[in-house]
Amino acid sequence: SRQFTRPLNDLANQFNTLLSALAGAERVFDIMDEHPEEDGVNALPVKSLEGHVAFKRVGFSYGETPTLQNVSFEAKPGETVAFVGPTGAGKTTIINLLTGFYPLNSGVIEVDGYDITILKKEELRQQLGVVLQDSFLFQGTIMENIRYGRLNATNDEVIEAAKLANAHGFISYLPKGYKTSLTQDGGGISQGQKQLISIARAILADPAILILDEATSSIDTVTEMKIQEALKRLMAGRTSFVIAHRLNTIEAADKIIVLQEGTITEKGSHEELMNERGFYYELQTSKNMDTIL
Ligand code: ADP
Repeated sequence: SRQFTRPLNDLANQFNTLLSALAGAERVFDIMDEHPEEDGVNALPVKSLEGHVAFKRVGFSYGETPTLQNVSFEAKPGETVAFVGPTGAGKTTIINLLTGFYPLNSGVIEVDGYDITILKKEELRQQLGVVLQDSFLFQGTIMENIRYGRLNATNDEVIEAAKLANAHGFISYLPKGYKTSLTQDGGGISQGQKQLISIARAILADPAILILDEATSSIDTVTEMKIQEALKRLMAGRTSFVIAHRLNTIEAADKIIVLQEGTITEKGSHEELMNERGFYYELQTSKNMDTIL
């Protein structure tokens, strides 16, 4: 659990360089590669975090037109916050800004009460675990792909993480087990199994804050159940931000944030938002919610 803090060392730096390179093809975190910012001379180290996150009147734009305006919300340590809204509303952008790699037009983002712009970026980044729809698996063995979450982990620790992620079963069933080589696209294993590997990796990394981009692609029911159970374990005790596509996930969140055209239009629990009879209620009661989000 999170009382273990990883010292920033050369390995961790290599990990982050590798992570940045691999994440370049991903939607989440893509902007930081385009606009890397240096740490200030007095940047604060990020040891273990409680995972308290606050956006305070955040304004942001990629270019001329504002992408986010006056965005304020708070996540207490361990809470799950689900972002809901049409494509282009700014959900991914909010999550990208959490890395502190991109300057705001206005407002402030705080983690554990610190303005993130004064924190050491790579160290902050290490406290952010990411599980994406299309998890980045690289050419290498399954063991290497999971260990990528924490490069100094022992084989036993990797296997333990795989067990918690419900991945150990299918891995053991492969003729080469943990030594199975994955091709660039993870060939040979299913989409759902890739997700289990990526969950194992995140469990091993043990971050205070999680970012989940929920899969929209259809996965068989059994694997889906394994994923949901593994995610529950992963999310327990961590602050989690979910770009949610599933009704169950949204309903179970501590807070739901409805975004429309870069502003928060509704914010609250499922019950609260249903009672408001607003956009969220409309989404929930429309039959084609999946096509809207
Ligand atoms: P969502 O995740 O809700 O679909 P995004 O945060 O991806 O929304 O996008 C919000 C807006 O910002 C959209 O209009 C999108 O086109 C724009 N946008 C996203 N990423 C970039 C970028 N790297 N450069 C310029 N505009 C971007």
